Amino acid sequence: MALIVQKYGGTSVGNPDRIRNVARRIAKSQAEGNQIVVVVSAMSGETNRLIELAHQIQPNPDPRELDVLLSTGEQATIALLSMALMELGARARSYTGSQVRILTDSAYNKARIIDIDGNAMKRDLEQGYIVVVAGFQGVDIEGNITTLGRGGSDTTGVALAAALKADECQIYTDVDGVYTTDPRVVPEARRLRVITFEEMLEMASLGSKVLQIRSVEFAGKYRVRLRVLSSFEESGEGTLITYEDDEQMEQAIISGIAFNRDEAKVTVLGVPDKPGIAYQILGPIADANIDVDMIIQNVSADDLTDFTFTVNKSELKNALKVLEKVQTQINARELISDDRICKVSVVGVGMRSHVGIASFMFKALADEGINIQMISTSEIKISVVLDEKYLELAVRVLHRAFGLQNNNAV
Ligand code: ADP
Ligand code: ASP
Ligand code: MG
Repeated sequence: MALIVQKYGGTSVGNPDRIRNVARRIAKSQAEGNQIVVVVSAMSGETNRLIELAHQIQPNPDPRELDVLLSTGEQATIALLSMALMELGARARSYTGSQVRILTDSAYNKARIIDIDGNAMKRDLEQGYIVVVAGFQGVDIEGNITTLGRGGSDTTGVALAAALKADECQIYTDVDGVYTTDPRVVPEARRLRVITFEEMLEMASLGSKVLQIRSVEFAGKYRVRLRVLSSFEESGEGTLITYEDDEQMEQAIISGIAFNRDEAKVTVLGVPDKPGIAYQILGPIADANIDVDMIIQNVSADDLTDFTFTVNKSELKNALKVLEKVQTQINARELISDDRICKVSVVGVGMRSHVGIASFMFKALADEGINIQMISTSEIKISVVLDEKYLELAVRVLHRAFGLQNNNAV
């Protein structure tokens, strides 16, 4: 008998018919002899609706109260799904994050899971229940409700699978696996049969929202067997996240293309080129708890240099406020910013053993007249920052240039 954790996202439980469809699939899987723990998201659009409501009351919603509010979305779905399972004659029992005791830290809106109590769930499973757990939420040591950041139900699923030592964690969504890029942007994108854990981690961190990055980190840490599948198709193997490179005999150089519209660029112009300047600029940014992604400092011509970095769009205002003070302190000439940018990245473990991937990428973009504003690389990815108007064109062009639609490497 296998123990399987199945997570169903918002679209998959978006209305009563879809909830019934999910219930039917779960009951079928149980009838095949499996023990099932289900994690569900709020019905599609619900979390956004709640956030919008909160903003109508408080322009800057109180983080603790926001989590109390947001957790209701998932709480509604667990009850509805449990009812749908009962209607099919199955035994089902729902749990909120705090009822399970998914213990998190107290970082409201982006809490991290510390520990999960598996006892009640195990007892229920042994008695033939389907256990239905609310995704995205937990409870801190003081009993406060917390949430795990947008897309956090994926992390609940993987964390439960790790805690219960499940045989597999299945993430059911509205696409039938992880694709070479978002199939909504490039229709000829191809489903990957397998993707290495490292590549999935890069894809998620570079903007592919099919899996929340923390869920991938969790899966890697506890070696959870993780698969992405469609909740709308009756069969299909989806995409398996693999941990051993040798499973990938015919590794393509590039596995996928990720993109992100959520960043903004800040430039401090005319800063003195001397030791300590990077620290003087980025220290206060870190102190304000603002995440920085790409950083570029140019070579100086006349003892003055320009310093550019990117932050999340939602943090741009804060970053500029911090930098206005810094500008006076370090006597920089000017402060400019641009929030109409995007980041496009190519990812692949095959890059390690191949040279010339970056120049190939830059040529493909140049041939389309796309200007590159910033570049950053790691062992298995190359990212470029572009004007946001080029996002779709750039992703399509690179997808074709790297032969991703045909399973061919360059
Ligand atoms: P859920 O509500 O099930 O959690 P999400 O909307 O969070 O679903 O994630 C699924 C979506 O991720 C897909 O509809 C697709 O548009 C998007 N996506 C982005 N990049 C990829 C990719 N590389 N492969 C598959 N889907 C992707
Ligand atoms: N409902 C939450 C969100 O929309 C969590 C999730 O769906 O994973 O972000
Ligand atoms: Mg999601």
